[in-house]
Amino acid sequence: MASATISFKAEKEELLRLCSRNIPNFRSDVVEKAFDFAMEAHKNFVRKSNEPFFSHPIAVARILASELPLDDVSVACGLLHDVVEDNDNYNIDIIKKNFGNDIAVIVDGLTKIKNLFKGSEFDQAEYYRKLLLSITKDIRVIIVKLADRLNNMRTLEFLDSDKRKKIAKETLEIYAPLSNRFGLGQLKWELEDLAFKELNKQAYEDLKRKINAKRTEREEYIERFKQPMVRELTNSNIKYEISGRAKHLYSIYRKMIKRNKPFSEIYDLFAIRIILESDSKTDCYTVHGVVNGIFTPVPDRFKDYIAIPKANNYQSLHTTVVGPDGKKVEVQIRTRKMHEVAEQGVAAHWKYKEGKSGDDPQLVSYIAWIRDILESSTEDEYKKGVVDNFKLDLYSDEIFIFTPKGDLKRLPVGSTPVDFAFQVHSKVGHHCIGAKVNHKLVPLDFVLKSGDQVEILTSKNQHPNKNWLKFVKTTKAVSDIKKWLNKEDEALFNAGKDLWEKKLKKLKLSFTNQDLNKIIQSIKLDNTRQFFMAVGQSKINVDELLTTSMEKEKKSKDVVSSYENFKEFARSSGGQLAISGENFKMLVSYSKCCSPIPGDDVLGFVSIGGGIRIHRADCKNMGDLAKKDPEKVVSIFWPEIEGSSFIVGLSINGLDSPGILNNISNTILNVKTTNIKSINIDTHDGVFKGIVTLYVMNKEHLNSIIDKVRAIEGVYEVRRLDEII
Ligand code: MN
Repeated sequence: MASATISFKAEKEELLRLCSRNIPNFRSDVVEKAFDFAMEAHKNFVRKSNEPFFSHPIAVARILASELPLDDVSVACGLLHDVVEDNDNYNIDIIKKNFGNDIAVIVDGLTKIKNLFKGSEFDQAEYYRKLLLSITKDIRVIIVKLADRLNNMRTLEFLDSDKRKKIAKETLEIYAPLSNRFGLGQLKWELEDLAFKELNKQAYEDLKRKINAKRTEREEYIERFKQPMVRELTNSNIKYEISGRAKHLYSIYRKMIKRNKPFSEIYDLFAIRIILESDSKTDCYTVHGVVNGIFTPVPDRFKDYIAIPKANNYQSLHTTVVGPDGKKVEVQIRTRKMHEVAEQGVAAHWKYKEGKSGDDPQLVSYIAWIRDILESSTEDEYKKGVVDNFKLDLYSDEIFIFTPKGDLKRLPVGSTPVDFAFQVHSKVGHHCIGAKVNHKLVPLDFVLKSGDQVEILTSKNQHPNKNWLKFVKTTKAVSDIKKWLNKEDEALFNAGKDLWEKKLKKLKLSFTNQDLNKIIQSIKLDNTRQFFMAVGQSKINVDELLTTSMEKEKKSKDVVSSYENFKEFARSSGGQLAISGENFKMLVSYSKCCSPIPGDDVLGFVSIGGGIRIHRADCKNMGDLAKKDPEKVVSIFWPEIEGSSFIVGLSINGLDSPGILNNISNTILNVKTTNIKSINIDTHDGVFKGIVTLYVMNKEHLNSIIDKVRAIEGVYEVRRLDEII
């Protein structure tokens, strides 16, 4: 295969030349070795474009040597980034043996974050996590990854349409915001425009044509803008460069969509940029004064990102003025160094750090937000935090808040005093009890606006509470509050468990999990965690709880032992229990659902805490109970019970006639030893319905009453009621 023998000699020389030009103290042997190593690993692979695969790592390395120059390690990683992924004969140990730990860590990080993006939010969050974790190991992972992505975006055309769309979407959602996060302005713009071109080709081409059509007009306009500037600045010592550049297409497109305006009405189609050769902030303000002296500034459009840099360390003065022909023009003023940071962010800082050891606070600041996200306390929080954080638009979603001393804090739009408090310090957040905004007391959920001065009032006794989570906006506040709440829960849980165990020990009680669960259910809690926390919070009085549960237990033990006695007795009495005798008296009760009387066929049911309850054998409730707990059913017969009476109910229907009520009651009372408890009779349309409750000795007694009542003239029906109402 011809491609396998290509030596890439020219490419190698070109790469080394770029490195020596852009990378200070670059070691050519490291890059050369990586070049040969990767060439060998990829020699049998071809790209979709039919080029040898190795042309891709070379292109990535070139980007890292010229567009995002960091160091020789990054260039080597650019060459090696796909080796482990694509060739099974290579693994991280081999990379480590050949190139050392630094390069192995970066290549490993790059290999791990490959091909994880699946599109759904869950996978996205998981992908971000791996990405973020690998970045915290070595920030160069993200630089190499972005160079890789840039080359993929530049060579999209060789892939099939579905894959192109997927990669473009991913670029817009993850890699462009990430570039922004790391201050890589230039890269962000190119990635966005490439993705825009892929996802909405027509709009892209249309905008491009319109902007190109105005190129001459634009260049002439910039000339006219420059002339008075040049005149004013000639006499100063300030060296500067003025350029006008069309804004990148995607940002114009986004503005058109956001403001719902056509191309012709988006005024800041291009920005004038003044870059000062000196490293002096004062010069920036001087030039700003000159610009404002020549052209009228548009109110409220001045932004001082020099005094207050953006989260990605971007610094510049922005002002909008009314330029020649009354056109509004955005002017950016910054030093050369600020410009490098604006275009290359973390990469520029890396360059300035050169040679210094230890953690550079500027570099650390680029990944502070990553630690905030990764430290989120819960999975849900992490997912919410990570997605929000990636979507946070650094260019419009921030407000600036002053501390009482005049320091500035940067917060997302919608932030509250609690967010501010946590931004100042976790401790301030924890004890935040109130806030003054511009010297006036406000509630803690007050929504701050840019320029507010906020003073936080604290109290030692104050602690975060759940409600704060309903209004805080920053990931830091959310994760600090959750952490505190979890810690508090944990402490309460442990204290509660401790207390419980001590009490049991003291009272020499042993509780199985089942026993405990019964108690938890009886006080309507869901689980042991809730229970121990409630004990820890003193919401439950353990002494009381144990006393009642011990009493209950004792009762149920009594019943059980009585039941044992029953069985004992039953055996001696031929298998049947008689309801009599001192042994059982207190335990026997007659169920209200069927009101059994001597002579009825009955069954007994041993109820926990309630003794033996007697039901009629055909009682429906008894049937249900027996089905559930058959072992608690005992068979029973009625002994001779002298002198006891039982209550029963009769339902009597018939024809209404004068004196019928008298007739019925007399008939009942004429049966020996009968007592009526109550009579209720309703008459309606000449028909009566009556309920009579009475005391009888036994079934025989009752039957004789029923017979006599049935014999009364005009009575249709006499029926024993199951239930006494
Ligand atoms: Mn690659």
